[in-house]
Amino acid sequence: MKRKDFLQTTTAIVGGSLLPVDSFSNESLKKSIRFAHITDIHIKPGLIPEKGMANALQHVQKQKVNFIINGGDAINDALGADKQKTKEQWNLFHSILKKENNLPVYHTIGNHDVWGWFIKNDKPENDRLYGKVWVTEELQLENRYYSFKKEKWNFIVLDSTQLNPAGGYIGKLDEEQFSWLQKELAKIPATEFVCIVSHIPILSICAGLFFNKNQPNGDLLIQRNLMHTDFLALKKLFLNYPQIKVCISGHIHLQDELNYLGIQYFCNGAVSGNWWNGSFQEFAPSYAIMELFNDGTVKRTMIPYEQQ
Ligand SMILES: [Zn+2]
Repeated sequence: MKRKDFLQTTTAIVGGSLLPVDSFSNESLKKSIRFAHITDIHIKPGLIPEKGMANALQHVQKQKVNFIINGGDAINDALGADKQKTKEQWNLFHSILKKENNLPVYHTIGNHDVWGWFIKNDKPENDRLYGKVWVTEELQLENRYYSFKKEKWNFIVLDSTQLNPAGGYIGKLDEEQFSWLQKELAKIPATEFVCIVSHIPILSICAGLFFNKNQPNGDLLIQRNLMHTDFLALKKLFLNYPQIKVCISGHIHLQDELNYLGIQYFCNGAVSGNWWNGSFQEFAPSYAIMELFNDGTVKRTMIPYEQQ
Protein backbone atom coordinates (compact mmCIF):
# COMPACT_ATOMS: atom_id res chain seq x y z
CA MET A 1 0.00 0.00 0.00
CA LYS A 2 1.31 3.43 -0.91
CA ARG A 3 1.83 5.82 1.97
CA LYS A 4 -0.76 8.24 0.58
CA ASP A 5 -3.44 5.51 0.36
CA PHE A 6 -2.59 4.34 3.84
CA LEU A 7 -3.05 7.83 5.23
CA GLN A 8 -6.39 8.15 3.41
CA THR A 9 -7.53 4.83 4.85
CA THR A 10 -6.51 5.73 8.36
CA THR A 11 -8.22 9.11 8.00
CA ALA A 12 -11.39 7.34 6.91
CA ILE A 13 -11.25 4.95 9.87
CA VAL A 14 -10.91 7.72 12.40
CA GLY A 15 -13.07 10.13 10.39
CA GLY A 16 -15.79 10.07 13.02
CA SER A 17 -13.44 11.46 15.61
CA LEU A 18 -12.24 14.21 13.23
CA LEU A 19 -8.60 13.49 13.97
CA PRO A 20 -6.34 15.29 11.52
CA VAL A 21 -3.88 13.12 9.61
CA ASP A 22 -1.05 14.95 11.41
CA SER A 23 -2.02 13.33 14.67
CA PHE A 24 -0.35 10.16 13.40
CA SER A 25 3.31 10.69 14.01
CA ASN A 26 5.68 9.58 11.30
CA GLU A 27 7.27 7.29 13.87
CA SER A 28 4.15 5.17 14.14
CA LEU A 29 4.38 4.45 10.41
CA LYS A 30 7.99 3.26 10.50
CA LYS A 31 9.00 -0.22 11.47
CA SER A 32 11.28 -0.31 14.49
CA ILE A 33 13.40 -2.52 16.70
CA ARG A 34 12.56 -1.75 20.29
CA PHE A 35 14.75 -2.74 23.20
CA ALA A 36 15.50 -1.78 26.78
CA HIS A 37 19.02 -0.68 27.68
CA ILE A 38 19.43 -1.35 31.39
CA THR A 39 22.80 -0.45 32.75
CA ASP A 40 24.74 -0.22 36.01
CA ILE A 41 22.52 -2.50 38.06
CA HIS A 42 25.33 -3.06 40.62
CA ILE A 43 23.44 -5.87 42.33
CA LYS A 44 24.54 -6.81 45.85
CA PRO A 45 22.83 -8.57 48.76
CA GLY A 46 20.33 -6.25 50.46
CA LEU A 47 16.67 -5.38 50.57
CA ILE A 48 16.77 -2.31 48.31
CA PRO A 49 19.13 -3.61 45.58
CA GLU A 50 17.31 -6.95 45.34
CA LYS A 51 13.84 -5.37 45.29
CA GLY A 52 15.10 -2.62 42.98
CA MET A 53 16.53 -4.96 40.34
CA ALA A 54 13.31 -6.99 40.43
CA ASN A 55 11.23 -3.81 40.09
CA ALA A 56 13.30 -2.57 37.15
CA LEU A 57 12.95 -5.90 35.32
CA GLN A 58 9.21 -6.09 36.00
CA HIS A 59 8.89 -2.54 34.66
CA VAL A 60 10.81 -3.49 31.50
CA GLN A 61 8.55 -6.53 30.85
CA LYS A 62 5.59 -4.16 30.37
CA GLN A 63 7.32 -2.06 27.71
CA LYS A 64 6.69 -4.26 24.66
CA VAL A 65 10.38 -4.56 23.88
CA ASN A 66 12.02 -7.26 21.74
CA PHE A 67 15.04 -7.75 23.99
CA ILE A 68 17.25 -6.25 26.69
CA ILE A 69 20.81 -4.99 26.49
CA ASN A 70 22.57 -5.11 29.84
CA GLY A 71 25.02 -2.21 29.65
CA GLY A 72 27.49 -3.57 32.23
CA ASP A 73 28.34 -3.24 35.91
CA ALA A 74 25.74 -5.94 36.49
CA ILE A 75 27.23 -6.64 39.91
CA ASN A 76 28.28 -4.25 42.64
CA ASP A 77 32.00 -4.90 42.34
CA ALA A 78 34.41 -7.70 41.53
CA LEU A 79 37.51 -5.56 40.94
CA GLY A 80 38.51 -5.69 44.61
CA ALA A 81 36.22 -8.46 45.95
CA ASP A 82 37.35 -11.92 47.02
CA LYS A 83 36.10 -15.02 45.23
CA GLN A 84 33.28 -15.75 47.65
CA LYS A 85 31.86 -12.21 47.52
CA THR A 86 32.15 -12.18 43.72
CA LYS A 87 30.35 -15.52 43.41
CA GLU A 88 27.58 -14.31 45.77
CA GLN A 89 26.96 -11.26 43.57
CA TRP A 90 26.84 -13.29 40.35
CA ASN A 91 24.47 -15.84 41.92
CA LEU A 92 22.17 -13.04 42.98
CA PHE A 93 22.28 -11.44 39.52
CA HIS A 94 21.34 -14.72 37.83
CA SER A 95 18.60 -15.66 40.28
CA ILE A 96 16.80 -12.28 40.01
CA LEU A 97 17.22 -12.18 36.22
CA LYS A 98 15.81 -15.71 35.89
CA LYS A 99 12.84 -14.97 38.14
CA GLU A 100 11.85 -11.55 36.80
CA ASN A 101 12.71 -11.61 33.10
CA ASN A 102 11.38 -13.44 30.04
CA LEU A 103 13.24 -11.50 27.35
CA PRO A 104 16.50 -12.33 25.57
CA VAL A 105 19.41 -10.43 27.13
CA TYR A 106 22.62 -9.29 25.44
CA HIS A 107 25.34 -8.49 27.97
CA THR A 108 28.10 -5.86 28.01
CA ILE A 109 31.10 -6.09 30.33
CA GLY A 110 31.45 -3.20 32.78
CA ASN A 111 34.55 -2.30 34.83
CA HIS A 112 33.02 -3.59 38.08
CA ASP A 113 32.31 -6.98 36.44
CA VAL A 114 36.06 -7.60 36.02
CA TRP A 115 37.55 -9.77 38.77
CA GLY A 116 40.69 -9.18 40.79
CA TRP A 117 42.45 -6.19 39.22
CA PHE A 118 42.32 -4.27 42.52
CA ILE A 119 43.05 -7.18 44.88
CA LYS A 120 46.38 -6.39 46.52
CA ASN A 121 47.73 -9.46 48.30
CA ASP A 122 46.41 -12.82 47.14
CA LYS A 123 48.02 -12.81 43.67
CA PRO A 124 44.71 -13.35 41.85
CA GLU A 125 46.52 -13.01 38.49
CA ASN A 126 47.57 -16.65 38.86
CA ASP A 127 43.92 -17.72 39.07
CA ARG A 128 42.26 -19.01 35.90
CA LEU A 129 39.29 -16.67 36.46
CA TYR A 130 41.39 -13.48 36.79
CA GLY A 131 40.29 -10.38 34.88
CA LYS A 132 37.54 -10.88 32.30
CA VAL A 133 37.51 -14.69 32.18
CA TRP A 134 35.05 -14.93 35.09
CA VAL A 135 32.51 -12.42 33.75
CA THR A 136 32.74 -13.86 30.22
CA GLU A 137 31.90 -17.31 31.59
CA GLU A 138 29.21 -16.04 34.00
CA LEU A 139 27.39 -14.22 31.19
CA GLN A 140 28.05 -17.02 28.69
CA LEU A 141 29.58 -14.63 26.18
CA GLU A 142 31.24 -15.99 23.05
CA ASN A 143 33.90 -13.32 23.57
CA ARG A 144 34.35 -10.16 25.71
CA TYR A 145 33.30 -8.15 22.59
CA TYR A 146 30.94 -9.38 19.88
CA SER A 147 28.28 -8.43 17.35
CA PHE A 148 24.75 -9.48 16.52
CA LYS A 149 22.14 -8.44 14.00
CA LYS A 150 18.43 -7.54 14.07
CA GLU A 151 16.87 -6.83 10.68
CA LYS A 152 18.75 -3.87 9.13
CA TRP A 153 20.55 -3.06 12.39
CA ASN A 154 24.00 -4.36 13.30
CA PHE A 155 24.84 -4.24 17.00
CA ILE A 156 28.46 -4.07 18.06
CA VAL A 157 29.08 -4.68 21.75
CA LEU A 158 32.48 -3.46 22.95
CA ASP A 159 34.65 -4.13 25.98
CA SER A 160 35.57 -0.62 27.17
CA THR A 161 37.64 -1.36 30.25
CA GLN A 162 41.39 -2.00 30.13
CA LEU A 163 43.86 -2.35 32.97
CA ASN A 164 45.94 0.82 33.15
CA PRO A 165 49.67 0.18 33.68
CA ALA A 166 49.90 3.44 35.64
CA GLY A 167 47.13 2.34 38.02
CA GLY A 168 43.40 1.71 37.98
CA TYR A 169 41.60 1.14 34.70
CA ILE A 170 41.28 3.14 31.50
CA GLY A 171 38.44 3.52 28.98
CA LYS A 172 39.66 2.34 25.57
CA LEU A 173 39.82 -0.59 23.15
CA ASP A 174 42.90 -2.79 23.21
CA GLU A 175 44.72 -3.22 19.88
CA GLU A 176 43.22 -6.62 19.11
CA GLN A 177 39.69 -5.31 19.70
CA PHE A 178 40.29 -2.16 17.64
CA SER A 179 41.37 -4.17 14.62
CA TRP A 180 38.38 -6.53 15.10
CA LEU A 181 36.12 -3.44 15.10
CA GLN A 182 37.71 -2.18 11.87
CA LYS A 183 37.04 -5.52 10.19
CA GLU A 184 33.54 -5.76 11.60
CA LEU A 185 32.56 -2.31 10.29
CA ALA A 186 34.08 -3.05 6.86
CA LYS A 187 31.67 -6.01 6.49
CA ILE A 188 28.50 -3.95 6.94
CA PRO A 189 26.62 -3.15 3.71
CA ALA A 190 25.99 0.52 2.89
CA THR A 191 22.21 -0.07 3.12
CA GLU A 192 22.35 -1.21 6.78
CA PHE A 193 22.82 0.60 10.09
CA VAL A 194 24.98 0.26 13.19
CA CYS A 195 24.33 0.66 16.92
CA ILE A 196 27.47 0.54 19.07
CA VAL A 197 27.20 -0.47 22.72
CA SER A 198 29.96 0.25 25.25
CA HIS A 199 29.95 0.38 29.03
CA ILE A 200 32.15 3.48 29.25
CA PRO A 201 30.85 6.26 26.97
CA ILE A 202 32.74 6.74 23.70
CA LEU A 203 31.70 10.41 23.79
CA SER A 204 29.78 12.05 26.61
CA ILE A 205 29.45 15.42 28.27
CA CYS A 206 28.30 13.90 31.53
CA ALA A 207 31.70 12.18 31.79
CA GLY A 208 33.03 15.71 32.42
CA LEU A 209 30.29 16.52 34.93
CA PHE A 210 30.60 13.37 37.05
CA PHE A 211 32.62 15.08 39.80
CA ASN A 212 30.10 17.93 39.90
CA LYS A 213 32.86 20.48 40.53
CA ASN A 214 35.66 22.33 38.78
CA GLN A 215 39.33 21.48 39.27
CA PRO A 216 41.31 24.03 41.32
CA ASN A 217 42.54 25.59 38.05
CA GLY A 218 38.99 25.92 36.69
CA ASP A 219 39.00 22.91 34.35
CA LEU A 220 36.14 20.48 34.09
CA LEU A 221 37.89 17.14 34.03
CA ILE A 222 37.14 14.18 31.78
CA GLN A 223 39.11 11.51 33.57
CA ARG A 224 40.61 8.55 31.67
CA ASN A 225 38.27 6.04 33.31
CA LEU A 226 35.09 8.03 32.55
CA MET A 227 35.17 8.30 28.74
CA HIS A 228 36.93 6.42 25.94
CA THR A 229 40.44 7.89 25.79
CA ASP A 230 40.69 6.56 22.22
CA PHE A 231 37.79 8.76 21.10
CA LEU A 232 39.87 10.56 18.45
CA ALA A 233 40.91 7.28 16.82
CA LEU A 234 37.32 6.00 16.97
CA LYS A 235 36.00 9.27 15.51
CA LYS A 236 38.41 8.91 12.57
CA LEU A 237 37.26 5.32 12.00
CA PHE A 238 33.57 6.20 12.35
CA LEU A 239 33.87 8.97 9.71
CA ASN A 240 34.26 6.21 7.08
CA TYR A 241 30.95 4.62 8.06
CA PRO A 242 27.80 6.73 7.75
CA GLN A 243 25.89 3.54 8.67
CA ILE A 244 26.86 4.19 12.32
CA LYS A 245 23.86 6.03 13.72
CA VAL A 246 23.97 5.59 17.46
CA CYS A 247 26.31 4.78 20.36
CA ILE A 248 24.87 3.91 23.79
CA SER A 249 26.64 3.66 27.13
CA GLY A 250 26.26 3.73 30.90
CA HIS A 251 28.96 3.94 33.61
CA ILE A 252 28.50 7.60 34.61
CA HIS A 253 25.04 7.16 36.27
CA LEU A 254 24.12 10.51 34.63
CA GLN A 255 22.16 10.94 31.40
CA ASP A 256 23.01 12.91 28.29
CA GLU A 257 22.43 12.94 24.55
CA LEU A 258 24.83 14.34 21.99
CA ASN A 259 24.86 14.57 18.23
CA TYR A 260 28.42 14.73 16.91
CA LEU A 261 29.38 14.34 13.26
CA GLY A 262 26.10 12.61 12.42
CA ILE A 263 26.16 10.05 15.24
CA GLN A 264 23.89 10.18 18.27
CA TYR A 265 25.59 9.35 21.55
CA PHE A 266 23.39 8.49 24.52
CA CYS A 267 24.60 7.95 28.08
CA ASN A 268 21.70 6.12 29.68
CA GLY A 269 21.85 6.68 33.44
CA ALA A 270 21.80 3.82 35.94
CA VAL A 271 19.28 1.32 37.27
CA SER A 272 21.06 1.64 40.65
CA GLY A 273 20.93 5.47 40.51
CA ASN A 274 23.25 6.56 43.30
CA TRP A 275 24.27 2.91 43.87
CA TRP A 276 20.90 2.01 45.44
CA ASN A 277 20.55 5.22 47.39
CA GLY A 278 18.03 7.17 45.27
CA SER A 279 19.01 9.69 42.60
CA PHE A 280 22.56 10.48 41.50
CA GLN A 281 22.87 14.27 41.15
CA GLU A 282 19.69 15.24 39.21
CA PHE A 283 19.04 11.77 37.78
CA ALA A 284 16.56 9.28 39.21
CA PRO A 285 17.17 5.52 38.86
CA SER A 286 16.18 4.78 35.27
CA TYR A 287 16.62 2.66 32.19
CA ALA A 288 16.29 3.55 28.49
CA ILE A 289 13.88 2.40 25.82
CA MET A 290 15.65 2.56 22.47
CA GLU A 291 13.78 2.50 19.17
CA LEU A 292 15.82 1.95 16.03
CA PHE A 293 13.79 2.61 12.89
CA ASN A 294 14.23 1.01 9.48
CA ASP A 295 15.21 4.37 7.93
CA GLY A 296 18.23 4.67 10.28
CA THR A 297 16.67 7.13 12.72
CA VAL A 298 16.72 6.55 16.45
CA LYS A 299 14.65 7.50 19.47
CA ARG A 300 15.64 7.21 23.13
CA THR A 301 13.22 7.51 26.02
CA MET A 302 14.49 7.45 29.61
CA ILE A 303 12.13 5.60 31.96
CA PRO A 304 12.39 6.22 35.70
CA TYR A 305 11.14 3.45 37.99
CA GLU A 306 10.69 3.02 41.76
CA GLN A 307 13.57 1.24 43.52
CA GLN A 308 11.44 0.21 46.50
ZN1 LIG B 1 31.11 1.39 35.27
